[in-house]
Amino acid sequence: MSTFLPPIPEFSDAEVDALRQRYRAERERRVRPDGNAQYQRAEGRFGYYAEDPHATELDREPLQDRVDAVVLGGGFGGLCAGARLRQAGLERIRIIEKGGDFGGTWYWNRYPGIHCDIESYVYLPLLEEVGYVPRWKYSPGEEIRQHAMAIGRTFDLYRDACLQTGVTELRWDDGEWVVRTDRGDAMRASYVVVSNGTLDHPKLPGIPGVESFRGHTFHTSRWDYGYTGGGPVGGLSGLADKRVALIGTGATAIQVVPHLARDAAQLHVFQRTPSSVDVRGNRPTDPEWAASLEPGWHARRRENFQAVVTGHPVEEDLVGDAWTASAPVLGKIIATDARADWDVAEWERAEELLDFAKMNRLRAQVADVVDDPATAELLKPWYRYGCKRPTFSDEYLQAFNRPTVTLVDTADSGGVERFTEGALVVGGQEYEVDCVIFATGFEVGKSDVMTGRLPVRGRDGTTLLDSWRENGVRTLHGVCSSGFPNLFHLGSLQNAPSVNFVHVLDEQAVHIAEVVAEARRRGVKCVEPTAEAEAAWVATIEESSPERAWFDAECTPGYYNNEGSARPRRTFGPGPAAFHRLLRDWRSGDGIDEVLGDAS
Ligand code: NDP
Repeated sequence: MSTFLPPIPEFSDAEVDALRQRYRAERERRVRPDGNAQYQRAEGRFGYYAEDPHATELDREPLQDRVDAVVLGGGFGGLCAGARLRQAGLERIRIIEKGGDFGGTWYWNRYPGIHCDIESYVYLPLLEEVGYVPRWKYSPGEEIRQHAMAIGRTFDLYRDACLQTGVTELRWDDGEWVVRTDRGDAMRASYVVVSNGTLDHPKLPGIPGVESFRGHTFHTSRWDYGYTGGGPVGGLSGLADKRVALIGTGATAIQVVPHLARDAAQLHVFQRTPSSVDVRGNRPTDPEWAASLEPGWHARRRENFQAVVTGHPVEEDLVGDAWTASAPVLGKIIATDARADWDVAEWERAEELLDFAKMNRLRAQVADVVDDPATAELLKPWYRYGCKRPTFSDEYLQAFNRPTVTLVDTADSGGVERFTEGALVVGGQEYEVDCVIFATGFEVGKSDVMTGRLPVRGRDGTTLLDSWRENGVRTLHGVCSSGFPNLFHLGSLQNAPSVNFVHVLDEQAVHIAEVVAEARRRGVKCVEPTAEAEAAWVATIEESSPERAWFDAECTPGYYNNEGSARPRRTFGPGPAAFHRLLRDWRSGDGIDEVLGDAS
């Protein structure tokens, strides 16, 4: 067995106090009273930031037909749902997707340098079914997008798909769902699966004066190659004479900066909080290794990765990368039962010391790589691992050694202060630029269902949102709710999220498809949890949710902790491996009767 807990490092009390104080001070510098309200949704007068630069014009007649299943969303969640329902024998499966093709986040995000930051052999779903082994350990975005399209072809999901279409209402009517869209469709479906993403709508910082800026602007998720030239692998020749500003230093910026640094005449990177940047070590796939893979390899590798990152002992760490090496300090962001035998206080103390050691190593690496000591100091992350999405790159920090690249620290002003007609202002200083690129991320947890933009009306006409507003979120396994028959959710609601989110989505898709298949075998028309089963699951979530408010409250603000004002996390405490086992046992035992009770 590989050890999953390295030796606990030693720190003096004074060192511990100093680090804690520094972390607290760095958080205080950044917490803003306006929290999430500081951001501007890309809609209305800012709607052009969310327009689709890839789709070609589509004109079609409204549909009023009947299908077996409608799946909302053509990203990996929706594609897994479609594929698994096809395997379960459903004939007419209709994926409805706002974009012009399948791929979800990989359809929209095509910025230069885009890569998968989880190993592609475990991140990409349905690899064996499609008969594909990724060409890189961390695939470029285009390879991932092509794989999404290959899933669509393999499972014949294009046949009934509705692309460039947004669902506007779901209504349960006479034993079926009526699905209305922004193209005038009113189709009927026996089952509906909602998988419309967690990080899908671009957000902008609400920086004063943004409209007065005369230069060019766009968001990284709608990259404007017409302006920059080049493509996702680089060669941004249009920037050769441009002064470029990039706002944001999250996981996206880490991948974009090396390309902008190489190709722009001048690059200013506006940073509010530095990311933790660990080693990447990307490499092409060894063809001999690919040829040696035995059937079942993909599921085994995915399970292995999940076991390692949740701190369970394994014979061998198959992925062996910076994610798996960070396993001992990931317990704060992924629930796990691996340390159930530890005394909580003892574990928290050990984990803090491991975290200090890890972050010290990452900070030392910044100092080793970045030539200018003042710039290096600004690039050091002062918070605990996982406060921000961990990032990985062997080129990002190095980019700051180029004479044409400047880091502009905005921590003390809460971000970029304002725009003028030709510049960005920070600390009273104007930075004149031709182009501003927003690497400022996405709205989180604001799916159309949860905001009410997409009303979902169940048995008695009540919307799902109203019902949850009144009674709190109520689901069985995060998948289905009483009063909303044959409606299934994919995502992170009341279940057990993990680092490899696509793995979680695929487990949910398999679960839903097997439940639907069993319902059809038994001739049960409505899949719907009993109120008792739903209440029992809500209680399980309440009781088992990990107590992590202290961590959120100590972290620098960001979307992981609701911009600094932590909300309780409602997840299944024993973690993803235990959750997936629970679902499998539930399906193969009597549990499934909890949703198939009514054969009418
Ligand atoms: P993030 O939300 O992670 O980052 C947004 C950045 O914008 C932060 O650095 C933020 O600073 C900064 N920012 C916001 N407002 C201002 C302002 N007013 N002035 C200056 N800076 C500002 O978005 P990303 O697009 O980087 O990443 C989003 C998520 O997408 C990731 O967390 C990850 O889950 C996913 N992703 C996944 C990849 C993959 O390969 N699987 C690759 C890339 C992204 P601050 O931190 O201070 O708020």
